[in-house]
Amino acid sequence: MRYDVLIIGGGPAGNYLAGLLAGKVDVAVVEKKGSFGGKACTGVIGAQNYERLGLPEEAVLNELRGAVFYSRIQSFEIARRGSQAYLVDRKTLEKSLAERAVKKGADYFMATTFKGFKNGKAILQHLKDRFEVEAEVYIGADGVSSTVAKAMGAKSKAEFLSGYEVEVVGHFKKDFVEVWVNKEVTPDFFAWLVPVSESLARVGTFGDMDSLNRFLRIRMLSPTSVLEFKAGSVGLGWRKPWVRGNVALLGDAALQIKPTTAGGIVFGAICARELAKAILSGNLQSYEKACSWVKRQISFGMRFRKLFLSMSQEDIERIFEVLSSEDVRAIIEAQADFDDHLRTAKAILKRPRVLSKLIRISPAIVRALL
Ligand SMILES: Cc1cc2nc3c(=O)[nH]c(=O)nc-3n(C[C@H](O)[C@H](O)[C@H](O)COP(=O)(O)OP(=O)(O)OC[C@H]3O[C@@H](n4cnc5c(N)ncnc54)[C@H](O)[C@@H]3O)c2cc1C
Repeated sequence: MRYDVLIIGGGPAGNYLAGLLAGKVDVAVVEKKGSFGGKACTGVIGAQNYERLGLPEEAVLNELRGAVFYSRIQSFEIARRGSQAYLVDRKTLEKSLAERAVKKGADYFMATTFKGFKNGKAILQHLKDRFEVEAEVYIGADGVSSTVAKAMGAKSKAEFLSGYEVEVVGHFKKDFVEVWVNKEVTPDFFAWLVPVSESLARVGTFGDMDSLNRFLRIRMLSPTSVLEFKAGSVGLGWRKPWVRGNVALLGDAALQIKPTTAGGIVFGAICARELAKAILSGNLQSYEKACSWVKRQISFGMRFRKLFLSMSQEDIERIFEVLSSEDVRAIIEAQADFDDHLRTAKAILKRPRVLSKLIRISPAIVRALL
């Protein structure tokens, strides 16, 4: 069997790329699972990019227009008029993208695992059958523990975190997300609560299961009201290179993830667009450079992450005091971008009064954010 492009991994990134290439080149997707969905992922995606990227409407479960931020002793609310983010159903998202790709001419091999490369060909396994597929270009869109990345010799300089998430019954404000930054409860990351409806929410954090249990307790959510539990992992930082010879990495396989929130679907789709252009122009090597916006966001996110890890809860309380002031909230409400956190930070730091308050807390904050 021979294809122009063989995509390994039928997650959001691989399926989105397949849809961009199908009909223009011969493309196939290999997915090790027998069906889509099931990955631990809250499914929050910035509304503007969701539409800009043409992601499927039918996957949207809920529209979110604001957030309430909680520290140990304070809270403030950011409310905006329109929808800022969507909560999506992962299975529908992946399946709709795959359906689009198949309709345009892509071939799918489900329940088929990529085992490695041999003599320039991909070795695949479906149940007990092993077979080979040859392609001009191979794409590793096979997630954070990418086998393709290992096979091409890519190296990681990243922080790998386990994530735990539950779907729980309770009473929630349907269009508001909750973000809890309290190192005494969840020391490694913030905890989130994203409503699916007024009576169901996805709640999670990164670190360990004890952190999530502590959070459920202080949020007064009962472990016996949990209807779904998922665990997964993310890698925050760099895995390089993204291209070697005729093999390229995409999505979580390339760690194209926002280190501030661990959201990866939008960055994966943005990079898929650049990768499709590079493949169609016959210049695969141009892909990495074309993803410079995403790379800048990752660099910023890593500085932010380092800062978060170095801060005490007292520092966080002092930052909350600044962020909850009326003028800063007004800037965030007017200018915050769900995916462009660098732009949001710059907008906040442009105000001399805010800048001097943050410098007083620690000059490292300003250095990290700019
Ligand atoms: C707890 C948690 C919450 C998250 N919440 C969000 C969120 O709200 N918003 C957001 O944007 N991101 C979120 N993320 C991150 C998001 O899940 C990833 O960024 C996203 O799934 C990346 O998509 P992908 O297609 O690159 O990889 P994946 O979704 O991991 O897909 C990779 C696919 O490759 C397949 N595969 C793997 N190995 C092989 C192989 N050898 N052969 C064939 N197939 C293979 C897998 O079965 C899988 O289907 C979260 C992550 C976690 C852990």
